[in-house]
Amino acid sequence: MLVLVINCGSSSVKYNLIETSEKRDICKGLIERIGAVTSIVKHEPVGKKHVKDTRVISSHTDALQEIMSYLLNSENGIISSPSDIKAVGHRVVHGGEMFKDSVLIDEDVTEAIQQAFDLAPLHNPPNLKGIQAAKEALPDVPHVAVFDTAFHHSLPAHAYLYGIPNRLYRRYKIRKYGFHGTSHYYVSRQYYKLNDKPVNDIKVITCHLGNGASIAAIDGGRSVDTSMGFTPLSGIVMGTRSGDLDPSILFYIMEKEELTLNNLHALLNRHSGLLGLSGYASDMRDLIAEAGKGDRRCQQAIDVFCYKIKQYVGSYIASMNGCDAIIFTAGIGENSPLIRKQSLQNMGYLGIEIDDKLNENAERGSIQKISTDDSKVDVYVVPTNEELVIAIDTAKIAEATAQSPWL
Ligand code: AMP
Repeated sequence: MLVLVINCGSSSVKYNLIETSEKRDICKGLIERIGAVTSIVKHEPVGKKHVKDTRVISSHTDALQEIMSYLLNSENGIISSPSDIKAVGHRVVHGGEMFKDSVLIDEDVTEAIQQAFDLAPLHNPPNLKGIQAAKEALPDVPHVAVFDTAFHHSLPAHAYLYGIPNRLYRRYKIRKYGFHGTSHYYVSRQYYKLNDKPVNDIKVITCHLGNGASIAAIDGGRSVDTSMGFTPLSGIVMGTRSGDLDPSILFYIMEKEELTLNNLHALLNRHSGLLGLSGYASDMRDLIAEAGKGDRRCQQAIDVFCYKIKQYVGSYIASMNGCDAIIFTAGIGENSPLIRKQSLQNMGYLGIEIDDKLNENAERGSIQKISTDDSKVDVYVVPTNEELVIAIDTAKIAEATAQSPWL
């Protein structure tokens, strides 16, 4: 089934056209700077000329119209009619407590996504805009919401509750939700395929290390803990997000620096993490390059990042009482031997041993084992594919919808 996958940010739309029966990308693209004077369009059909263009695109609705015209374009288009697209899958960041699985989008679902605006003010509003825009562009096909939070619905209460009055959980649903669910799900499944053991007996720790980063403990195929929490701000240090903090720091800096809530929000989400620590960059490649030239703060940012990963890995081994595999994925996890090595160094006590040669030579874009044969725990690099998870879930729901007499 040909499925269009849409991932909307506040000023961007990322899209992938995927043939789910072959698990194959047919085309991908990105529109950035929506609403700015000029927007940038990248359209990359497989086997055809790639396009990089500037356009005036003022809204998500216009962006979806633009995407359709690129897909249909006679020169570098990839479909001959909108009806070639059989379903649309939408990445929705926060599903709150309501959504344990992907769902067909109807009015109730739209309302529930809206109700979760509070929980993910940066993500859910643009996600919903994308849904509305795509429904206008493709009104006759099923639209499916795939939530970042859904995979972590299996967290037990002792992992998702915070040590605050329980009425705050009951009243406002303040709890750990976890994110990057489609990625943690996908890479853990790739490891299961390599393994003879039944999934129920396998314990893995997945490290999604990109600009946003999270770690998950997955026991018997179910997420049992994860580093991000109520929002994607907690857990390990990220590109520009602080990760875990002593909450008292917030009162303290608010007072000392006379910050408003908005200032504090910006400080923790956009000016902290690797960027804040190094005072130089949020991008790991830049930090590694500068640290290599002797920059102390860039080196410290890398050290903090790796130390946090190590702490989470250690604590999840304790939580699960063991671990069969640690998996690295996303931009940093897939591409940086240095970060993989430093995060897991001196963990021989827990039976984790990286093979330096395998780690250094791990071929990009494919699944690679990087642990020694003696390591008690397998360590793998597994490229993630969140869009494929969204496309496959969407196809399943679209097929079920087509067969149901009630829908
Ligand atoms: P993502 O959000 O998954 O696209 O990942 C973005 C992050 O991956 C950025 O911090 C990049 O610097 C980092 N990254 C990409 N390639 C490399 C590389 N070869 N070495 C280190 N970090 C990398």
